[in-house]
Amino acid sequence: MGELRILFIGPAGAGKGTQCAKLSEEFGLEHISTGDLIRAEIKSGSELGQKVQSIVEAGNLVSDDIVNEIVKNKLDRTKRFVLDGYPRTKEQAEFLNSVTNLHYIFSLEVNKENLVERLSGRRLCTGTKKPGCKGMFHIAFNPPKVEGICDLCGSELYQRKDDNPETIEKRINSYESETGKPLKDFYGNGDKGEFISIEADEAPGMVYEAITSKLKAVSK
Ligand code: AMP
Repeated sequence: MGELRILFIGPAGAGKGTQCAKLSEEFGLEHISTGDLIRAEIKSGSELGQKVQSIVEAGNLVSDDIVNEIVKNKLDRTKRFVLDGYPRTKEQAEFLNSVTNLHYIFSLEVNKENLVERLSGRRLCTGTKKPGCKGMFHIAFNPPKVEGICDLCGSELYQRKDDNPETIEKRINSYESETGKPLKDFYGNGDKGEFISIEADEAPGMVYEAITSKLKAVSK
C-alpha cells in the first residue's frame, strides 16, 4: 500500500470524527484524533491529562507544544493516516508541515444551526465493554436501539462534558478566528496538498460519497 496522508478541517459537529472513522476503515488509514488522544489522557489520570482537563472541559484549546508532541509520536509511526482535529492553529499547521506533507485537505462546511443541533444530541460510547469502541449516536437523528446503550458493543453511552449549550456556543464561535481562517489561509492555495471544500450539511452517507468521489484514483 502506498502513502496516503489526509487532513480534515471543520468546526466541532461538522462530522470530522464520523467521516474519518469510515474513511480509515475503507482505506486502511490510521485515524489520528487529537481530541480522542487528549480525552484518553484525561481518563487515564496521567500528569498530562490532569494538566489539560479543565482547559478541554471549558472548550478552550490546549497549548500548541502539548498537541504537537502528542501528534509527533503518532506520525513517526505511520505513512497512511487521516488527521482529525489537528492542526487547529497556524502554529500547529506549520509544525505539521515541518514533519510531513499531506496529499488531501478536506474542509467540511456546515451551517451553525446544524452544528449546535448535532453537538447537543451527540452521545458516545464509553467503551467499557470494548475499549476503543467508536460508537457515536444522536438522540434524534441516529438513536441507539436501546436508550443509553451502544449498538456496537453494549457499553453505556455518555455525553461529552464540552457538549453543553454554553461550551458548544463558545467552541463554535471561537472556531473561525482561531482555526478556520488561519487554516484556510495556510492550506487554501493548494501548495500543501489538494484542498477540497465539501458542503457537509447533508446526512453522513452523502457527505462520505462526496469525499470518496475525490479519492477514486487513490489506492486502498
Ligand atoms: P475534539 O474532540 O476534536 O472536539 O477536541 C476536544 C478538545 O480537545 C478541544 O476542544 C480542545 O480542548 C482539545 N483539542 C483537541 N485537538 C486539539 C488541537 N489540535 N489543539 C488544541 N486543542 C485541541
